[in-house]
Amino acid sequence: MAFKIEVNFDACESNGICMDIAPDVFEVRDDGFLYILQEYPSAEAMPRVEEAVPRCPTQAITLVEE
Ligand code: SF4
Repeated sequence: MAFKIEVNFDACESNGICMDIAPDVFEVRDDGFLYILQEYPSAEAMPRVEEAVPRCPTQAITLVEE
């Protein structure tokens, strides 16, 4: 069982909150867009991803079970 990160880029405001929590997974670059560095987050990164999901103010991040 793996978890995949999906981001609704139409809802994302690129405010970097997820990057502050999990900088090894989320990165807002100088171009103003959010990039997902680990589409399938490592076990080590998962707790921070799970923290970032509810803290996204636009609820743009979803964890999908595959
Ligand atoms: S916390 Fe949400 S709105 Fe902010 S950059 Fe991450 S996905 Fe986008």
